[in-house]
Amino acid sequence: MEHRPTVGCISLGCSKNRVDSEEILGELAALGFDISPDPDAADVILINTCGFIESAKTDSLDTVFEMLPYRESGGCRLLVVCGCLTERYYDELREELPEADLIWGVKDHRGLAEAIAMRMGLDVPAAAGCCRRVLTTPPYRAYLRIADGCDNRCTYCAIPLIRGGRRSIPMERLIDESRHLAARGVTELTVIAQDTSAYGTDLYGEPRICELLTELAGIDGLHWIRLLYTYPSTVDKRLIDTIRDNPKLCNYIDMPIQHISPTVLNAMNRHGTAEHIRSITDYVRTAAPDFILRTTAMVGFPGETDEDFEELMRFFKEHPFDRVGAFSFSSEDGTPAAELPDMDDDIKQRRLDRLMRLQQGISHRLNTARIGTEVEVLVDGISGNTALCRSYAEAAEVDGAIRVHMGRRRLTPGEYVRVRITGAGSYDLDAELI
Ligand code: SF4
Repeated sequence: MEHRPTVGCISLGCSKNRVDSEEILGELAALGFDISPDPDAADVILINTCGFIESAKTDSLDTVFEMLPYRESGGCRLLVVCGCLTERYYDELREELPEADLIWGVKDHRGLAEAIAMRMGLDVPAAAGCCRRVLTTPPYRAYLRIADGCDNRCTYCAIPLIRGGRRSIPMERLIDESRHLAARGVTELTVIAQDTSAYGTDLYGEPRICELLTELAGIDGLHWIRLLYTYPSTVDKRLIDTIRDNPKLCNYIDMPIQHISPTVLNAMNRHGTAEHIRSITDYVRTAAPDFILRTTAMVGFPGETDEDFEELMRFFKEHPFDRVGAFSFSSEDGTPAAELPDMDDDIKQRRLDRLMRLQQGISHRLNTARIGTEVEVLVDGISGNTALCRSYAEAAEVDGAIRVHMGRRRLTPGEYVRVRITGAGSYDLDAELI
């Protein structure tokens, strides 16, 4: 039998990038490639890079350098670097990475797959059919990317420079894709985009996220649907009620606020008001008390004063979020905030440490309050005699795990079981089977 070339893919960065990788792999599979997770076995190594902040850029370049030996002396015949970093620094990287055989940005997955196939000497059919993504997640869960790009233009963010304005995917296509995923065994769907709550504005003249979620919840086979990356100004009572009132929609909302001081929000060009953030958070806590609230917050934005920072700390004390991803400002080439005078690194670090310490205590307290409750969990991994599980309250890849001691009962990944929470840290929890 003729040898089918094998491609190994390393997907860096966020889940949105992972969907790009899955689409590219889908195109490659349709062109005759096998997929392998092992770089040793790969004829083609594809690195899908992230260029979001400085540390992600360094990680991406480190990965390219780690893979070089496979190209130089291993079986790899083609080293391909694509993604956000290459989109952003295409010319520089072509100069700096002569070892890469192909450098590609974020657009035109079909074109990239064809370029790879041609370099590998494969025939490329003229008419392309519809390709299905190759899932890189366990078979029972998948991401559904509902839009790409972003219209918000936060002054610190390079994403709109890399990915352009928001382009929502028509609802019928998303429903069709989700039906296929469910038919392939996916039971947990995580809905993502740069800004999910504005979904549809560019296509339908108004956000249609509630309609989309309701449609998705009607698909047989899907058990949990979780919404990530909402934007506060388009999170309203209707969205919260839609999630709360539909049992398949996880009572979980990820609403990155970044800050609460009006001056900083303004300088960041964040839309909506601090008042709205406060009132919608209050609404979640009263109308949907078992909701899990996740957010991200940025400290050290240029011009953030001590008072601004203390206001943020006070906000989190008064409006406790279950999870906060905290990070400090990183100046990104080409963004408006890069023109502003950057703050001393020590101050940024001190603020970040204080916020993270505060949040550790809050997360621990909120997790402790869950002890004694019974909850359905999805088995997501096995380690020895412990099943690593998640409930509606834990998103895959970003939140902690619920450790369940299996005893004599064997659990398998993908299974849903009921447990009682018996212990809590600030990140992971312990539970027993019931
Ligand atoms: S909402 Fe702001 S931070 Fe998020 S991708 Fe859009 S511009 Fe960037």
